[in-house]
Parts: sequence; structure tokens; C-alpha cells
Amino acid sequence: MLKTGHLYHGGIMVNYRCNAACRHCLYACSPTRTGGYIAMDTMKEICGVLRRGGIGSVHIGGGEPFLDIEGLLMAVRQLDAAGISLDYVETNAFWAVREKEARETLRALAAEGVSALCISLDPFHAEHVPYGLPLKLAKLCDETGMAYFLWKRQFLRPLSVLEHSSAHSREELEKHLRSGYISNTAHSYGIRLGGRAVNIEEEYGSFHSLADLFGGGAKNSPCGDLLSTGHFHVDQDGYFIPPGCTGIRLPLAEAVDGIPAGKYPVFEILYEKGPAALLDFAGGRGFVPEKNYPSSCNLCFHIRAFLSEEGFAELDKNHYEESLKYYSRPKAVQ
Ligand code: SF4
Ligand code: SF4
Repeated sequence: MLKTGHLYHGGIMVNYRCNAACRHCLYACSPTRTGGYIAMDTMKEICGVLRRGGIGSVHIGGGEPFLDIEGLLMAVRQLDAAGISLDYVETNAFWAVREKEARETLRALAAEGVSALCISLDPFHAEHVPYGLPLKLAKLCDETGMAYFLWKRQFLRPLSVLEHSSAHSREELEKHLRSGYISNTAHSYGIRLGGRAVNIEEEYGSFHSLADLFGGGAKNSPCGDLLSTGHFHVDQDGYFIPPGCTGIRLPLAEAVDGIPAGKYPVFEILYEKGPAALLDFAGGRGFVPEKNYPSSCNLCFHIRAFLSEEGFAELDKNHYEESLKYYSRPKAVQ
């Protein structure tokens, strides 16, 4: 029976909703994602399975965890009750507008044992959150004794030519940074081009025929990383999300204890055979590929988006819809 091995490093996504809709978001989060915030019962169940899988610590992310401060504090308490350490909480700092309240929030977190934040700062986030807010939150962390790291500090220098108190459109960023800032930023990050970032690869990548993709060394081997536990996530509904290959999900308890054979055919085909076999499977169900794709993982995304309409339980239909929203392109090529 397929299952993960020891759980090494993971994160709990307490929501999919976010005030932002960044163009590189691997989890396709946005203001229109539904599902609310993680429930206490779900959090308890997740913690129990994570312990069974041998995990020692996790981080908390989203979505934007600070959209529900009480919910965040509940999640922190549940981790503590389960004996799981919290490495850090991720945030885009949108809530640092009012300093007094932000300071109180930091103190409330510290009182529950939160010791560090990962604060997002880069040109993609700057389209949605004024980059002065991550800096303000960093200053408040300094004042209150909360540790933090800016992810990534290296982007501060190029952003500093822009006004810090407002968000900036793609056009403004292209004018003041460089026209290639999107591909450069993606490259600097080394991001996986899944989720909403499929659009980045489609705008900037070079396209190949299927024969070239599968005959030319692109990925056509079994996708064994689907059960990797080096940087996995568990979402607000208790699903295991493989590192990198978002839009695929399995109930965490099944991923850890054993995945019933035949229950998740799309997952099984990818895990055991790879994307070319998935193309064959989808072809038999009416999927007609485009002539060219930038990579086999990009093709895999589009096949899964197609199959998600059929209701395969391992495919999150919302993920595919939200991945294809919110990516602005220059007007001339729209
Ligand atoms: S990258 Fe972070 S801030 Fe941006 S949409 Fe995704 S979850 Fe929200
Ligand atoms: S082909 Fe699909 S499942 Fe395999 S690594 Fe690429 S995105 Fe992940």
C-alpha cells in the first residue's frame, strides 16, 4: 500500500483565502477562495496524524493566516497541546496598517508561544500589499521581541525606487524595475511553476511539441515526489498537499497510514508512471492537448484541470479555476 514515510518538514495551511492574489502563488490563493478558516476539530485531527507520522515541528501558512486572529491563536494552541513545535507563521503583513493593534496582535501571539514570523516581501506581493507594510511589521517585531525574516530581503533594494505606501501595478513595476521583472523574480526565487505560476511559464517559457517534451528529456518518469515529506503542506480541510505539485490532494490520514489501491487513479498514474501515462488516460476521456507546452509539468497541470471537472477526489477543482484567474498580462498580448 502506498504511503508517505516519516514526516520531515511540513506546513499547515489554515485557509486558502487571502487578501492578495499573487501571480506566483503555488496554492492559487485569493480573496475569492472559499472555505473559511481551519476548524478546531480539523486542527486536532491533523495534529494527531502528524504526530503519528513522526513530525516534530511545522510552520503555519495560508492563504493569509492573519485574516482570522482568533482562528490563528486557536491553531497555535492546538499545536502546543499536541506537542508539535511551531517554526514560524507566514504573513504578507497586510494587517500592520494600524500599529497599536498590530503590536497587540504580536503580543497575543507571543503569549501563546509564537516566536517567529516569515514576512513576505517581493515584487509579486508588492502588486497587492504596499511594501512599506512588511517593513513596518518588521519594525514592530523588533520592538516587541518577535523574531522574523523577510522573504526575501534581497528584493528590498529594487523595490526601494517605488513609493512604499501603495501597491503597484504590473505596468508600474515594469517601468521602474525592468520589463522582465516577473521572470527575473521567479528565477531568483527558484519557484515551482505550478498553481498560478503556470501563467508565468506560459508567458516567458519556450514551448515544445509533445514529441519533443517526452522524447527530449522533459519529465516523463514516475512522479515519486508526490509522497515526499520534505516540504509538504496540510490544508484547512485536512488534505496532504505534495511539495510542488499543488492541485493534487489526499486525505492526510490516508497519506500517512496507507492509500487504498485504486481510490485515486490520477494520483496513482502519476506516482507510478508519470505525465505521459496521464496524457493517455485523459485522452481516453476526451482531453485534446494543445500542440505545444512549455514543460511536461505544465501539460500535467492542464490535464489535471480537465480531469478535475470529472470530480476525481484527488483533484481540487477550485485550485485549477483560481490558478487561471488574476494573472494580468500586458494589454497587447491579452
Ligand atoms: S503568495 Fe501568499 S500572499 Fe500571495 S496570494 Fe498566495 S498566500 Fe496570498
Ligand atoms: S508531471 Fe505533474 S505530478 Fe509529476 S512532477 Fe510534474 S506537476 Fe508534479
